[in-house]
Amino acid sequence: MEKNRLAVIGAGPAGITAAIYGARSGLDVSVFDGGFIGGQTAWTSEIENYPGVDFIEGYEFANRLKTQAEKLGVKFINENVESINCGGSVSLKTQGSGDFDTDVLIAAFGAKHRKIGCPGEEELAGRGVSYCATCDGAFFRGKTAVVYGGGNTAAENALYLSNVCDKVIIVYRKDKLRGEKVLLNAVFDRENIEIVYNSTIVEIVGEDNTAGGVTGAVIEKQNGSRETIAADAVFVAIGMQPENQVLAESGVVNLDKQGYVIADESCRTDDPRVFVSGDCRTKEHRQIVTAVSDGAVAAMNAISYLNSLN
Ligand code: NAP
Repeated sequence: MEKNRLAVIGAGPAGITAAIYGARSGLDVSVFDGGFIGGQTAWTSEIENYPGVDFIEGYEFANRLKTQAEKLGVKFINENVESINCGGSVSLKTQGSGDFDTDVLIAAFGAKHRKIGCPGEEELAGRGVSYCATCDGAFFRGKTAVVYGGGNTAAENALYLSNVCDKVIIVYRKDKLRGEKVLLNAVFDRENIEIVYNSTIVEIVGEDNTAGGVTGAVIEKQNGSRETIAADAVFVAIGMQPENQVLAESGVVNLDKQGYVIADESCRTDDPRVFVSGDCRTKEHRQIVTAVSDGAVAAMNAISYLNSLN
């Protein structure tokens, strides 16, 4: 008997968990990973809040997810899905291999780094402007780095960079950092981390040649005054933005004002064959453990749907 097919879009914790649950239930599972495994965990230096795992590096966690899924026969397809058609069968279009039909779909697009949108950010990307301290921090050993943002990611980035850089300056638009107490206390304890509150970055400046790097960040205080902070790098950590347009265009979901797919804890959409899980859907908390939970729920509900057809 032919196996039912499950297609998963996105290879972060939500997508790969859905794939693992699907494969263990006997589905033929393909994950469209867009060339990137692990989602945000791949950018995370240290994971210390996943139950049962007191410490693991982000890339190691991502690798383990993939290995576990592959052992169960999950196929990873290194392509981006460009459109989803839910007219007759559920069909995905990719640039490389064309159309791909599936019985059920779990979309786990995750989210991408939010940009500041100020002058210099795009021009100096890769030359001192970065969205990942673990990826690029080592380039700034012994130097000064600005971290922009006031949440958990900013705190994590600042802590990571404080082990590498001489000085780290957190720039935050409000007067009190928000995030987990354990992370914030560690930030406050580091002597080489300075915090500049009530300030926004309005420009990133760099050397006046195409090969030159960042030389500083222009910040604007609440009273409108501006000053330039000298720095060799600016790490932007101002949250994430979901990339749900492809799914929205399929007509089976609606997005909220921030671009998240409106879906409840069941991960169901208006089409019984299509589920949405992880950080790309509306939810109060976005953590690895909540993404993993979504992946399992979406897969189990997809399996229930398939069983209901027999
Ligand atoms: P976040 O919690 O959404 O925080 C984003 C930060 O950037 C906030 O301080 C926000 O300011 C600021 N911000 C947003 N838009 C901005 C803009 N346009 N200009 C300037 N500043 C802006 O994002 P996150 O820290 O990346 O975390 C994402 C999720 O992952 C959260 O749920 C977080 O708890 C979780 N996470 C958890 C851990 C952990 O548990 N160890 C580690 C990393 C991430 P306001 O405060 O003024 O809104």
